[in-house]
Amino acid sequence: MPVLSYVHQLFNAEQCQAYIHTLRWKDRPLQCPRCQSQDIDPWGTYHYRPGCKRYWCNGCKRTFNDLTKTLLHQSKRSLPYWILATFLLCLACSSRRIAREVGVHIRTSYRWCWWLRNAALSYEMDRQLTGRSCTPTLRIMRSVQKPAKRL
Ligand SMILES: [Zn+2]
Repeated sequence: MPVLSYVHQLFNAEQCQAYIHTLRWKDRPLQCPRCQSQDIDPWGTYHYRPGCKRYWCNGCKRTFNDLTKTLLHQSKRSLPYWILATFLLCLACSSRRIAREVGVHIRTSYRWCWWLRNAALSYEMDRQLTGRSCTPTLRIMRSVQKPAKRL
């Protein structure tokens, strides 16, 4: 059993979802990530994604959630996997170690680490250029788009 396996118990899906919601919207009003409309109504939840609230945008007539237009949008893995991978990456664990701890293939872990490092780097470059500051996790949530899959 991997050494850090007990860390899984610290992350449950609903807590992770609440954490992401707070990170994304705590310093600004809830708005549509597509059209930036603030005319938003609650639109239920997902049965397969505990704690993830869905919203209806009256501007563009589409639904969204806290992960829309982020690196984590439509990920096959649930949010606790990503939070744990980010936690381990911040502890300077290797991709191989993260794969073992999280329980994903080494190629998946490598790809996640690349995305997360790229997001942190783009955050730092933006912060230096504009003088703005926000948490790296918030930066990941706000602006990094998942690269298109190769066919
Ligand atoms: Zn909209």
